[in-house]
Amino acid sequence: MPEYIVEPKSRKALRQLADMLRNKLGLSGELWIPIVELLDVLAEVFEDFSYEIVPDSDLSPGIHAETDVHTGHITIKESVYERACDGEGRDRMTIAHEIGHYFTLCFCGFKLHRNFRRQKVKPFYDPEWQAKCFAGEFMVSSQLTSCMSPEEIAKFCGVSLDAATYQAKHRN
Ligand SMILES: [Zn+2]
Repeated sequence: MPEYIVEPKSRKALRQLADMLRNKLGLSGELWIPIVELLDVLAEVFEDFSYEIVPDSDLSPGIHAETDVHTGHITIKESVYERACDGEGRDRMTIAHEIGHYFTLCFCGFKLHRNFRRQKVKPFYDPEWQAKCFAGEFMVSSQLTSCMSPEEIAKFCGVSLDAATYQAKHRN
């Protein structure tokens, strides 16, 4: 059950947000998003954005990275960061996912309510869904990849085949 509920944002709205950010960063024509380098760029552009790389033992075994939604601070496991630097799709997406939390929860000021009653929420209200959706849209431009197969998307955008297949399915 999600701990927080956010204002609903559709895939379309999150795609617009991802495109806007690509534009602002001069990446609108790029298939391959340099997500690792972007961490430093975002820290320069956005005052409240910060991140750190920590030893793997600092985070629980099942957690690859996390974002403090109140401070905008992203913590990334060393092993995840290193694999992302090597171009590993899954780890690149992990970083994009955390950046998604920053942009959907911190930066955009989407209203965040504590889910006191621990009720089941629709995907659009779930911050995890929003971060996942944003990350996919940001890493795989629906415009630039509209004619590509999942295999091509995985190769040219540097994402896992799973993520590429998902984006191909949701591009319209
Ligand atoms: Zn998350």
